[in-house]
Amino acid sequence: MKLKKIVTISISLIIFLVIATLTFLLQPSGHVQKFQKWIYQPELSSSENNQNNSQNHLDKKQLTVRFFGVSTLLFDDGQTQILIDGFFTRPSLTQTLLKPVQSDPKLLEQIIKDYDLKRVQAVFTSHSHYDHALDITELGKQLPIKIIGSESTMNIARGGNVAEQQLQLISPLQTMLFGEFKVTAIPSQHTPPTAVNNDLGEVITHPLKQPARFSEFKEGHSFDYLIEHQGYKVLVKASTGVISNQLKNMHVDTLFLGIAQLSRQTPEYQQQYLEKTIGTIKPKTVIPIHWDNFWEPLPLTQPLEFLPYLADNTQKSMQTLIHYAEQQHAKVVILTQPVAYPLQN
Ligand SMILES: [Zn+2]
Repeated sequence: MKLKKIVTISISLIIFLVIATLTFLLQPSGHVQKFQKWIYQPELSSSENNQNNSQNHLDKKQLTVRFFGVSTLLFDDGQTQILIDGFFTRPSLTQTLLKPVQSDPKLLEQIIKDYDLKRVQAVFTSHSHYDHALDITELGKQLPIKIIGSESTMNIARGGNVAEQQLQLISPLQTMLFGEFKVTAIPSQHTPPTAVNNDLGEVITHPLKQPARFSEFKEGHSFDYLIEHQGYKVLVKASTGVISNQLKNMHVDTLFLGIAQLSRQTPEYQQQYLEKTIGTIKPKTVIPIHWDNFWEPLPLTQPLEFLPYLADNTQKSMQTLIHYAEQQHAKVVILTQPVAYPLQN
């Protein structure tokens, strides 16, 4: 009888501890509002109306960027638009773990309409994990755009029967021209693997039909993108990894820097990552990317949320980035919504 009681109490305690741990791990790892000082606040815009019309004060020919979370970025010079990565359908954590994932055509239709994406000429994919490439197929079906990426990226698009002439395999270090945009893909390295994405270097060898398990979206090599626009230079680095010397002698005005899981790396790794990116490139402005909770739907008019503790301590990753960047006299700007941020001053 006594033993039975002990067993019951022990089991209850274990269940309680599991629930408490899970609850903690699913909490956002801090709040972006605590970084108010660095958050970009568009002038003359209200939070209810910040999609298109509220930013009429921006010159139509002004080069701008909109951040749609993770590393999905829309560059627009008033004539031509290009996208880095395509991830708008953000399935919940439970959906992602338990069910195959797929792009939401209706949501994409709405985004294309709301953000006037008719002028997009190309989407450049940093790598083929689903949080970068899930929606490239649907974008390619709804818009006559080029899809540029690795062989794995091509196979994601082929899985949705995107026309072969829309597909363009990356030629590393070869500059591609779209309107006034000159884009160069630079071989890069993914964030160090974790138990759920331990597939670095693995390739998607066959057309990948959606719905598909998130784990079927193999990394298939990673790329950074150097974007030049009338002398203005931007580097987009989606992942928290770098190939030594690859960014040597490169100077850009604005660096979009992936910080996912930076806090989970050793202090030496963090230091080297920041040295080989911000320290080497010496950008005037650094804009952190890949810090938001991509298991939450895109909020559009509300600020994006930090990743849960399960995935990172984003508050720490953000603080580490800001500390290093400011030591290097770089300005840090945090974009929390897809508002048009002007790139040339
Ligand atoms: Zn990835």
